Amino acid sequence: MPTDIWQQAHSWLESLVSYDPGKPIEETARELGLKPEDIIKVASNENPLGPSPKAVEAMKAACEQAHIYPDGGGYKLRTAIAEKFGLERQNVILGNGSNEIIELIGHGFLNPGDNVIAAEHAFVVYKLMATLFGADTIEVPDPGFVHDLDAMADAITPETKEIFIANPNNPTGTLVGQEEIDRFMARVPDHVIVVFDEAYYEFLDTPPDTVKYVREGRNVVIMRTFSKIQGLASLRIGYGLAPAHLADVIQKCRQPFNANGIAQAGALAGLLDDEHQEKTRDVNREGRAFLQESFAEMGLEFVPSHANFVLVKVGDGDRVFKEMLNRGVIIRAMRSYKLPDWVRISVGTMDQNRRCIATLKEVLALA
Ligand SMILES: *Cc1c(COP(=O)(O)O)cnc(C)c1O
Repeated sequence: MPTDIWQQAHSWLESLVSYDPGKPIEETARELGLKPEDIIKVASNENPLGPSPKAVEAMKAACEQAHIYPDGGGYKLRTAIAEKFGLERQNVILGNGSNEIIELIGHGFLNPGDNVIAAEHAFVVYKLMATLFGADTIEVPDPGFVHDLDAMADAITPETKEIFIANPNNPTGTLVGQEEIDRFMARVPDHVIVVFDEAYYEFLDTPPDTVKYVREGRNVVIMRTFSKIQGLASLRIGYGLAPAHLADVIQKCRQPFNANGIAQAGALAGLLDDEHQEKTRDVNREGRAFLQESFAEMGLEFVPSHANFVLVKVGDGDRVFKEMLNRGVIIRAMRSYKLPDWVRISVGTMDQNRRCIATLKEVLALA
């Protein structure tokens, strides 16, 4: 008779549901008996143009050095990131994806009984990571799917360790502006770390300035990623920007080689490739407008997006997901976000966007 493993494991892990990722193309192809190239995935907010060609070149070169441990200090990449934002190298923390930074902050600061604050429809990983450390998540209502920063500041308790602001948020695509952020920051006490998750920052035309709070030495961490506009999601590399006193704590919480050498090389080349980012922004702007205009024509409610995806109300989201999948179009159902009537569709190339809309019309019997 095996012992009940929950006598030994952290009791709070029992309620932890693992993250539900977008369905992979290869797996879908196998299940449907289709060729992978006949399937489109507009489910994980990936860059439809792929990585920067310069990043690919740098990664190929780095492969030749795969037998050598990477630069654990991430010297070149952290220096380049710091220069880009007028900060020092000590202000930059590399992560195995920006998602790892969320965990590292948890390692540094969360105890059972603490709480973290997030918006009701915020990115789920904040809550998953809080649960991992036995902390509670206070979910603050977000009317119209927009973070209500005043209500989030009101929700702070003496046990609050972290507040997450996803800007723009995933899966809603909504943005909070400079004025709200400044008003919020004026109210946040020092015992709370404010985490601005800016994974889609590069898609914004006029992004709010949060880096000034790093310069001022406030307890903030800004998270950015190479997974989205840079098209390097598979590499698992992202970064945090924080004042040195806070960055030093977070650095102690990571494994020595958490950012691998191929990822560091690809990320550095991608970071410097402004042309590829500009092209991606253009493709995204055009595709997002097309998707939103199409939803409007179809009479579907959607949330106007500041990012590279759109949240749209389709009725039974699980059914629409399944029927789209059967037709070779992978989107994301939103039941795990307590939005069973909604799906999230990433902006693809115009060919992909047109196919996605045509398939959606078919599935909703609008065609
Ligand atoms: C995609 C995404 C990230 C990026 O995660 P990585 O671990 O860097 O791939 C972070 N935050 C949000 C809100 C996202 O949507």
